[in-house]
Amino acid sequence: MNKTVLPPSTIGIIGGGQLGRMMAIAARQMGYGIAVLEPSVNSPLGQIADLEWHAAYDDKKALVELLEQSDVVTYEFENVPYATVRELASFGNLPQGAMPLIVTSHRLREKLAIEEAGYQVAPFLAVMSQDELKYAIKKIGYPCILKTASGGYDGKGQWVLRSDADLPDVLAIIDANEYILEGFVNFTKEVSVIVTRSITGEIEVFPVTENEHVNQILHVSLAPAQIDASLRQEAETIAQGLIEKLDFVGTLAIEMFVTKEGIVINELAPRPHNSGHWTIDGCTVSQFEQHVRAICGLPLVKPQVRGYAVMVNLLGQHVDEALTAWQQPEFQDAKLHLYGKDEMKRNRKVGHLNFIGDDWHKLKVKVDRFLARLPE
Ligand code: AMP
Repeated sequence: MNKTVLPPSTIGIIGGGQLGRMMAIAARQMGYGIAVLEPSVNSPLGQIADLEWHAAYDDKKALVELLEQSDVVTYEFENVPYATVRELASFGNLPQGAMPLIVTSHRLREKLAIEEAGYQVAPFLAVMSQDELKYAIKKIGYPCILKTASGGYDGKGQWVLRSDADLPDVLAIIDANEYILEGFVNFTKEVSVIVTRSITGEIEVFPVTENEHVNQILHVSLAPAQIDASLRQEAETIAQGLIEKLDFVGTLAIEMFVTKEGIVINELAPRPHNSGHWTIDGCTVSQFEQHVRAICGLPLVKPQVRGYAVMVNLLGQHVDEALTAWQQPEFQDAKLHLYGKDEMKRNRKVGHLNFIGDDWHKLKVKVDRFLARLPE
């Protein structure tokens, strides 16, 4: 499929979370209609969609109806059940195809694909039993991280092993699932690059973003990343090369570790990414608009930062204080994005704030003053 899909056509989205919501906001601004398949009621995207199916992702009847009602279909998360992926791929209006989902929903497949494309990842071994874990630790050494091969997010499904003392607890976790054991990367910074490839083959790379995590959950993203220009160039070149070699269409977010020896790729996501939320207010095009352009065959926009941008993630426990601070003169020009979540759950992402400015130092001071007000 290689046709331009113009507004007011309908874009179908699998998944009703905040990424789908922000994709839909960008698409609606351009005049597209939105259809969504999402099991839960009153989801962040369901609240603003034109058409909605409340059904499991592998409910064939609902899925086929969504596909029939949509001119083009995309997804907002990678753990789409395999039966759904097959149905999507065979229907013919999923320009991204099934490969980005098949590769990135499984850590082992993902790492092998990155290596095959010629890029560096942390040392890793597949683990499917207690014996294989012991063998992998012998080969890789401490410290290392055991990760579930599929389904983990925000540090869930991950266990750090620093010495033999940690082994009994982690051995007890091993069940019939697949895991990988990864060597610990001694990084100086974590960065990410979002790259978009259109159905026409056009590629645009967003400026490198620097990411700070707290408890393995993204806390703050800064753009452009404050790293050497040569490293920035290297990261952007990797992004462009990787999406081409993987032959993906749509958005690819690439999480990377910066080390003294160069860049190591941590993880891929075949969709807009939390570390790109600053682009909504701080860039010539947002990652969401660019994604819509890519799957609809519209020309891509060259992404350029407007000065400097910092995104602060809001978790459930942050919202009350963030809303109070945001009304103060010092912070009222920060752009607030709340996702319409039903509950403000602790350690769950419920929104973010974008701070944009021309003076890096002043912006950092302001963001630090804001962060100091948020509870842990
Ligand atoms: P992931 O879910 O793989 O993105 O991991 C979440 C976070 O855990 C990363 O952003 C890193 O801060 C940390 N992490 C994951 N894998 C490694 C690794 N191999 N070495 C060091 N830190 C890691």
